[in-house]
Amino acid sequence: MANILIVEDEPGIASFVSKGLRAAGHQPTVVDTGREALNHALTDGYDLMILDIGLPDMNGFDVLERMRGSGSKTPVIILTARASVDDTVAGLEGGADDYMAKPFRFEELLARIRLRLRTETSSGDLGVLSVGDLTLDLRARTVSVAGEVVDLASREFELLEAFMRHPDQVLSREQLLSRVWGYDFDPDSNVVDVYVGYLRKKVGAGRIVTVWRVGYRLTTRA
Ligand code: CA
Repeated sequence: MANILIVEDEPGIASFVSKGLRAAGHQPTVVDTGREALNHALTDGYDLMILDIGLPDMNGFDVLERMRGSGSKTPVIILTARASVDDTVAGLEGGADDYMAKPFRFEELLARIRLRLRTETSSGDLGVLSVGDLTLDLRARTVSVAGEVVDLASREFELLEAFMRHPDQVLSREQLLSRVWGYDFDPDSNVVDVYVGYLRKKVGAGRIVTVWRVGYRLTTRA
């Protein structure tokens, strides 16, 4: 569990990220201006900050510069629609630890957060998930089934990761959509069903059970 400060002025994105982080066991706090971001970042102990660049009162880069200038070492992940190379370079030179462009997938943001938190604490989580004879290595981005390495496309990998974080638990299409495809995906799309089909072919059809009208469940009794 980490205390994470979300600096974001778009309510939809702020709530999407905040809900996702809470579901992942973190303690998120949302602020929507640069001034509040600085107040929080410099006075409260956050483990990590997610920082938007286009804020109503100041630029996120200025927030970062003042934070670093005041000696704050809190890891910062910049999350912004401004995806140009120049901005990336400016962000990283300005003391950001990572950079993500909107639109983004929640699983990817979560993976980057985990990586930053792990770099900070070097704690016990080795980045490997195991469920029965399925093994997923988050750093190497590899999956093996009963010791055999299986090639997965990036969305298949993220979908399997979502399942492996919640074995034997039913995950709805909406949950899977927001975790793997992002907040701006059409909720009526059948992309989840299509990818569950791909995944079944690669890891074994019996492992992912359809729960009628609800979603899917990764079974540990395949
Ligand atoms: Ca903004």
